[in-house]
Amino acid sequence: MNVKRQLVTAALPYANGPVHIGHLAGCYLPADIYVRFLRACKEEVKFICGSDEHGVPITIRAMKEGTTPQDVVDRYHKLIGESFSGMGISFDIYSRTSSEQHRKTAQDFFRNLYDKGLFEERESEQYYDPEKDVFLADRYIVGTCPECGNTNAYGDQCEKCGTSLSPEQLINPRSALSSATPVKKLTKHWFFPLNEYEPWLKEWLVAGKKDQWKPNVYGQCKSWIDAGLHPRAMTRDSTWGVPVPVPDAEGKVLYVWFDAPIGYISATQELTPDWADYWKQDDTKLVHFIGKDNIVFHCIIFPAMLKAHGGYVLPESVPANEFLNIEGQKVSTSRNWAVWVDEYLKDFPEMQDALRYVLCANAPETKDNDFTWKEFQDRVNSELVAVFGNFVNRTMVLTHKLAKGRVAPIHGDLLDDADRGVFEAIQETKKQIETAIREYRFREGLQALMNLARTGNKYLQEKAPWSLSKTPELQAENQKAIDNCLHVCLQLSANLAIFCNPFLPFTARKLMKQFKVVERMLDWEHAGSMELLKVNYPLPEAQLLFRKIENEEITRQMEKLKEAAAQAAAATTPSTPAETPQAAPAPVVEAKAEITFEDFAKIDLRAGKILTAEKVEKADKLLKLSVDLGEAQPRTIVSGIAQHFTPEAIINRMVTVVANLAPRKMRGIESQGMILMAEDTSGKLVFVAPVSAVPGGSEVR
Ligand SMILES: [Zn+2]
Repeated sequence: MNVKRQLVTAALPYANGPVHIGHLAGCYLPADIYVRFLRACKEEVKFICGSDEHGVPITIRAMKEGTTPQDVVDRYHKLIGESFSGMGISFDIYSRTSSEQHRKTAQDFFRNLYDKGLFEERESEQYYDPEKDVFLADRYIVGTCPECGNTNAYGDQCEKCGTSLSPEQLINPRSALSSATPVKKLTKHWFFPLNEYEPWLKEWLVAGKKDQWKPNVYGQCKSWIDAGLHPRAMTRDSTWGVPVPVPDAEGKVLYVWFDAPIGYISATQELTPDWADYWKQDDTKLVHFIGKDNIVFHCIIFPAMLKAHGGYVLPESVPANEFLNIEGQKVSTSRNWAVWVDEYLKDFPEMQDALRYVLCANAPETKDNDFTWKEFQDRVNSELVAVFGNFVNRTMVLTHKLAKGRVAPIHGDLLDDADRGVFEAIQETKKQIETAIREYRFREGLQALMNLARTGNKYLQEKAPWSLSKTPELQAENQKAIDNCLHVCLQLSANLAIFCNPFLPFTARKLMKQFKVVERMLDWEHAGSMELLKVNYPLPEAQLLFRKIENEEITRQMEKLKEAAAQAAAATTPSTPAETPQAAPAPVVEAKAEITFEDFAKIDLRAGKILTAEKVEKADKLLKLSVDLGEAQPRTIVSGIAQHFTPEAIINRMVTVVANLAPRKMRGIESQGMILMAEDTSGKLVFVAPVSAVPGGSEVR
């Protein structure tokens, strides 16, 4: 495809709370780096985002706070927007799905599919709260878990024991809104026939070479399709949302996952009268940056909707990141285990790039990763300050000390291999960053930038211009050597500004000020030039680019994190242990004969992560898995768990693998290892796996 313009979207954050650094690392920061790079390349690009303001959780929150849904979304739309702009996330528009434009666009879209006769109208019985007069989503029905006795289990899942539930399974079900007993009531909804798009989706994903997408994204899509697609209700009973624009639909709104992705279209319409070029011309490249929890909506449901409507471009790429954990634990809003962006900006003013740097250097691009405050401090102090900041600062200080504060001239006849090595490193870095960013490997791009700064430090250290003698007989010759070294270091510093601009935009602008040059110098066409700063140009005094993070700051953040979590824990109602039913005694399994440590050490146990899972044809019990063990290729493992888990339920699960078990063919598939399982009292299989995320391939011992 000949790409003429790019349309880049970042997942619409839900306006039900502030954004945390996991959100930033998951999609907003990578999207921003990508877009800033394209802009620097003078390519046509629009960067679209906005608040997702509909859905049941917002109405619930409003009800609990005794306010209106509009009030809730107004508050968070503002807070989220400020957090993004504070961090330099440079959307061309940050819109919202409660806008008039969006209502119209989403309704037109629905109406288009309706007029084509695509929707199937279905009546069904759904749970209803007779006191509050509203239909209840499964999540809003609570009751006692039949598995573990937790009295606050949700109608879709018990968060205590992890069992998937349906409202029917709850003992003493009650509405989370009023505590009334839910009743069933007949209601009508419009179903989108996702199943009819299965052949097309297969074709699009497979023939469209979408297998070049990240393995996590492609794997999830494939598992979903392999498990079979079903019609999905695209409407809900609610008063908060986009009203369903067809007859006989009072009290119905569009399902939030129908309306939210259309928000990308309506926001583009608000942004520019040329919106149709971006959405309807084949030479547009549409890229959705999202977190992994949104993959099926962006890779299956939304493309099927766009296809059904017709006339729209389809996503070319969907770079989805995994999750960022905090201090070894999953981010949790309900447990208040998170680092909130608005609070970071208050606690660390003027230090946006420090966070951008650490989140990108440690981005969860291919697996879940962990953010710790200690690592934040280490990376800022020993990389940003000690490598990047230090090199630029020494260059500026030495220029004032040894070259009268002016850009030193270059003496071509004296250039040596070390100088030429720096020129080459700059050209090489330029290529590396370009490739890495275009292929969504942002960590790698940032790494290349830092390596160049390291090269600079090493070069300066070896040249040691401060040590050259200034005796009268040597002065003229040595000054030439000093000039060359400082000239090279300054041009290198200016290139660092261009290279760091997508990643660290605040730093790039600080550098422009230090060099007293206009921002236009940051255009990518100048990257690699060794004439960025004019000879004899006077430079101001050196200023520090970054500051160190002190131990006290880290201690304070750790305390803050723990205090907030403790408060959240105290605020939740504890479940009454008295009601926990007695667990049935575990079946007794006869102990096996004793083995030596050497016997045990022969078994190579590894932590792994399931990337894809699919049913094995004509084998009821088997699932074919691909499991990441940190090796070049994921392992294929056939496991007898098909009667206990659906393929899509186990994607991204951590497992323990016997990695050196001799390969074995099952149903014609070579199984390259075995997954450890245990059986619970009801005979159901459960995974035996690390309780928190560890890298695939970690030894289990
Ligand atoms: Zn439970």
